[in-house]
Amino acid sequence: MIYIPRTTKWLKRESGLITPMTKIEEQADFYLQNYDVISKYVCNHTGGHKEFLDKAVTKPYRCRFCGKSEPEVKFTDDAHAISELIGNKSLFLKSECEACNKKFGRIYEDQFAKYLGPGRTVTQTKGKNGIPSYKTVDGKFRMDVTDKGFVIQEVAGNGRLDFSNGEIQLQLVKDTYIPLNAFKALVFMALSVIPENEVSAFDETIRWLNGEEICFNMKIYSQYVMERFIAGAKPLPLSAVVLRRKYGKEVPYSIFSLEFDNYGFQIVVPCPKEDYRLDGKTITIHALPSMIDIDEELKNRKQSFAIRDWSSNKPLRGESFEMNLHYEYREEITGKYSDVADMAKQEGVKPLKPKG
Ligand SMILES: [Zn+2]
Repeated sequence: MIYIPRTTKWLKRESGLITPMTKIEEQADFYLQNYDVISKYVCNHTGGHKEFLDKAVTKPYRCRFCGKSEPEVKFTDDAHAISELIGNKSLFLKSECEACNKKFGRIYEDQFAKYLGPGRTVTQTKGKNGIPSYKTVDGKFRMDVTDKGFVIQEVAGNGRLDFSNGEIQLQLVKDTYIPLNAFKALVFMALSVIPENEVSAFDETIRWLNGEEICFNMKIYSQYVMERFIAGAKPLPLSAVVLRRKYGKEVPYSIFSLEFDNYGFQIVVPCPKEDYRLDGKTITIHALPSMIDIDEELKNRKQSFAIRDWSSNKPLRGESFEMNLHYEYREEITGKYSDVADMAKQEGVKPLKPKG
C-alpha cells in the first residue's frame, strides 16, 4: 500500500472553466465514498463523569482482548478506552479485564507516551497526575508547567535552550522507545473504542497485540503513521474516530484517527482478515479531514504533517525533539544551584538535580 496523504487535482468542468478542487474537498470525498463511521467520541478534559462505551454489555463480562470471563479474570470499572496518559478521564470500557488493561497499558501506552516525550509537557497534556514534568536523564534540564506558566531549569552551558528570535527554542532528546509498541498503543486504543460486534473482524490483530506471529505482512500498517501537529494553545479536544469501509470498496478495512491537544494521529487499523484481498494493489489513503482543516482560526495556525515509520521493534535511542515556544513574558534567573533551588521552591516545582 502506498499513501499519498494530500493531493491537489484540477477538475475540468463542462462550462469550460477550470475550477480548483481543494484538498479538503478531495479528502472528504474519499471518506464519504469509501467509509462509514462506526465509532466517534469526543471527551472533555474535566472528567468527573464516567462514560462506558460498551454500556449494553452485561455481566458476566468477557474481555475482548483475551476472551476470558469472570471469574477467570477480574474486571474493574477502571479500564480507560483511550489512554489516560493523553488526557482521557471520561471514556471507559467494561469488556476489558484488569490483566489486559495492565499489560497493554504498561507495554504499549507507555511507549506511545515516550514517543511524545517532552511534547506532553509542552502541549500541557493532562495525564494521570496532571501535566507531566519533563527532565533529561542527566538531570541537567527540567521543565514543569504550573498554573502561572512554564518553569524551565537548565545547567548553564547545557545548550538545550536558545532564546534567539524572541522564541524559546527547545532542543531535547526523547527517552528510548520501541516504535512498533507505540504503534500498537494506537491499535489498542482503536480496538477499545470499536463496537463489541466489530471485534471479531480483528481476531488476528488481537493475537498480534498479544505477541503472536501473524501470517500477514503487518509492516504495511506500521510504516504509515500519519501525524499532524498544530501550534498554539491546546486547540483540540480529545477525540477518537473509527471508520469501516463500505461494502465492496477497494480500500483498507478500518481507519483510526486520534486527536488531542496539539496532536493528530491516523492509522490504518490492522485487519488481515479483511485486507488480504488488497494484496498487490496500490491504494491511496488521504488524511481524514478534521477540525484543523475546517475551523477558520485553526486553519491559519502553523502546522506540520508527517508520515512516520513505526515498524521497528528495536529500541530507538536518542531521537531528537525540537520545538519553538512563543511567550508573552519571560523572566530569566541565573545563579548558583542554591539560588535556583530556592526559586524552584517558590514556583512550586522540584529543583534541578544534575548528576555528576
Ligand atoms: Zn483480558
